[in-house]
Amino acid sequence: MREAPQRIGRLALVGLGLIGSSIARAARQYGLAETIVAIDRDPAVLERVRALGLADHATDDPAEGAAGADLVILCVPVGAVGPVAAALAGALRPGAILSDVGSVKGAVVAAVTPHLPEGVAFVPAHPVAGTEQSGPDAGFATLFQGRWCILTPPEGTDPAAVARVRAFWEGMGSVVETMSAAHHDLVLAITSHVPHLIAYNIVGTAADLETVTQSEVIKFSAGGFRDFTRIAASDPTMWRDVFLTNKEAVLEMLGRFNEDLAALARAIRWDDGDALHALFTRTRAIRRGIVAMGQETAEPDFGRRKG
Ligand code: NAP
Repeated sequence: MREAPQRIGRLALVGLGLIGSSIARAARQYGLAETIVAIDRDPAVLERVRALGLADHATDDPAEGAAGADLVILCVPVGAVGPVAAALAGALRPGAILSDVGSVKGAVVAAVTPHLPEGVAFVPAHPVAGTEQSGPDAGFATLFQGRWCILTPPEGTDPAAVARVRAFWEGMGSVVETMSAAHHDLVLAITSHVPHLIAYNIVGTAADLETVTQSEVIKFSAGGFRDFTRIAASDPTMWRDVFLTNKEAVLEMLGRFNEDLAALARAIRWDDGDALHALFTRTRAIRRGIVAMGQETAEPDFGRRKG
């Protein structure tokens, strides 16, 4: 077990899905919090939280759960962050820190800031880690190990609060980086949001094809399509909210993407093998860079053929 950096007294997590339950598990496993409070609106989720022993206390009342907490982390879909912040803000004690894990940061800052009581710091965070699964059973303590966590504290945020949130994520094994919310949203639009949109689109197109049967799509999926289906199986509510709240950056990146796709189509039409080869050589280097940074396995086909 790694040494607890700056133990949190009372940690309250709102939304015990994949991310919230992973934080609960990691906080417990690495000794990062004395008491863990779970807040979720779904009685079935609260029942699983109790059965799995993920928290010391579980409630459906955001204000009751947040009262007396030192750190409250909102782990709900981005569209729910504002209403949840409004419901619990009045219960936060001065000196408490409010944070979140939303995949979009500008919209979260705009939704939370009006509800922030005097003396409470807001330190937005985004762990760049996850899977296509949802719910409290999908979480695991090592989800954040070796993964980036991006903090986007608004200007003027108490540096001590930022340092505590940083230490908390480092305690869970994350590598922490700080940037502005606007820059985060632009970067993540191209590295995460547009790729998800492409996956949703290609799987949708394949499902709608009339000349290729559904069973053929499934049968021959190993030819690349299967990797898109994993991404396209991601949580519908979470991703609906991501696209609606990071609209501008996604549309900007999508514009670039469409131009580049048109150039590729032109290269194919005019037998421009050199252009295709040059691009595919550059993209292969990107993949190698990701592997070299320890963010992906070097094994062929993601190591699926092992054993
Ligand atoms: P999830 O597994 O679907 O869990 C979300 C939980 O929040 C569910 O238990 C949900 O309950 C609850 N919830 C929704 N609205 C609520 C509300 N108004 N009040 C209280 N609880 C509410 O989702 P997740 O994957 O953990 O994602 C949570 C957040 O993490 C999102 O903001 C997402 O952008 C971010 N994130 C996700 C990933 C990823 O890969 N999944 C990675 C990084 C960051 P119901 O079932 O009743 O709706």
